[in-house]
Amino acid sequence: MAELSGKSVYITGGASGIGRAVVEEFVKEGAFVTVLDRSAEGLKELEQQFGEKVRTITGDVTIYEDHQRAVETAVEAFGKLDVLISNAGVFDAFAKFVNVTPEAMSEAYDILFSINVKGSFFAAKAAVEELKRTRGNIIFTLSGASFYPDGGGVWYTASKHAQLGLLRQLAFELAPDVRVNAVAPGGTLTALSVIAPLRPFVNIVDNETKAKSIKTRNPLKIVMASEDHVGAYLLLASDKARAITGEVISSDGGLVVRGL
Ligand code: NAD
Repeated sequence: MAELSGKSVYITGGASGIGRAVVEEFVKEGAFVTVLDRSAEGLKELEQQFGEKVRTITGDVTIYEDHQRAVETAVEAFGKLDVLISNAGVFDAFAKFVNVTPEAMSEAYDILFSINVKGSFFAAKAAVEELKRTRGNIIFTLSGASFYPDGGGVWYTASKHAQLGLLRQLAFELAPDVRVNAVAPGGTLTALSVIAPLRPFVNIVDNETKAKSIKTRNPLKIVMASEDHVGAYLLLASDKARAITGEVISSDGGLVVRGL
């Protein structure tokens, strides 16, 4: 039987990259998926591909009401909510702290933390009552940058550490009703966008250069693709993980054995 048969899942940032790969896998495994994303174009593609199995909301994770709309949509369409995946995120492209002006530093902080951190607070808050009803679970998309330096600049690394704190405290507070876990991908070939205030301070590299850099950074020496991470999400979302909470599955080519 499919692992997620009949489950109702709400995911943010599901129109591209890792989120999109998760949507594909979850639909294949029998789930109904509600996707919030700011890319109307990406959402249209999902609707065309999956029809009645998905519902889409064009919105912004920094707006609480957009999450409320998404949760209401999921419950109306599929009768309940079993899983929240807070996945939407943006990047700082390794911008160097000392090179960035105070104005750009501040603007970058506000934008990046609003999306990566506040977006996760909002998603969890909007979904928690429905998740309690189903004894469901939350999965955050963290990063190798939740644990180690050099997975981004200070904005990204600090934001991904903050999400780890959110995951741990929520796992504690929401037990025994809701499991709270995370997947921490390593560098992955996606379109992860660099926030505007930091663009003047970084080199935006092409995919080939990005692939080379990803390969050299992880001990398994693989160029990770979005699809490489979906198994971890599938396990955590499924009833097979009923004893797992407060955990992070690192899907990063073995950063833990790299040594610093
Ligand atoms: P991506 O850009 O392909 O996907 C991110 C999606 O989030 C996009 O569809 C984008 O439109 C959406 N999004 C961004 N800001 C939004 C907002 N304010 N409101 C609504 N939607 C918004 O990038 P990805 O690499 O798949 O990133 C997904 C997650 O994976 C992020 O949390 C990222 O930090 C994390 N991650 C990525 C990598 C990597 O190397 N690509 C590594 C570790 C962790």
